[in-house]
Amino acid sequence: MQIQRKTDLIQKFYLREILTGLFITLKNLFFGKKVTIQYPEQRRQYSNRFRGLHYIKAVNGVENCTACMLCPTVCPANCIHIEAGERDDKEKYPVRFEIDILRCCFCGMCEEACPKDAIKLSNIGEMTQAQRVVYDKQMLMEQRGSKL
Ligand code: SF4
Ligand code: SF4
Repeated sequence: MQIQRKTDLIQKFYLREILTGLFITLKNLFFGKKVTIQYPEQRRQYSNRFRGLHYIKAVNGVENCTACMLCPTVCPANCIHIEAGERDDKEKYPVRFEIDILRCCFCGMCEEACPKDAIKLSNIGEMTQAQRVVYDKQMLMEQRGSKL
């Protein structure tokens, strides 16, 4: 046997629920904690541990990298490509150093593995204006964050 519940007019038209919902919406609108920011005028502060775009450290304009091939070896995404060469001031250096940013998962293993502290991950996380997806040596040497 089905039990018939008696409902009053307020319940029939969901008035209480509608008013409760409106109250919660208005309360959050005027007194709630704001979680959005006015980007790009306002920027979020990232943690020091944030891993953003890569850069190659340079000392006196010379890249610290010795093309030891450790970083492409440990890279799980296989996105670092280095071509080694020799020159007068350096026994071994990267003639070509490229990172395919689309493949990179920003794990930071290249940074961990580098014995020369040459490859670093900056705090730059904005890639919407990136013109290219493969960063070459020149771009990597110009790329700097505040984590120098
Ligand atoms: S952050 Fe990880 S995936 Fe990206 S280049 Fe370095 S090792 Fe490869
Ligand atoms: S591990 Fe460091 S020194 Fe070795 S190739 Fe990579 S960036 Fe260069």
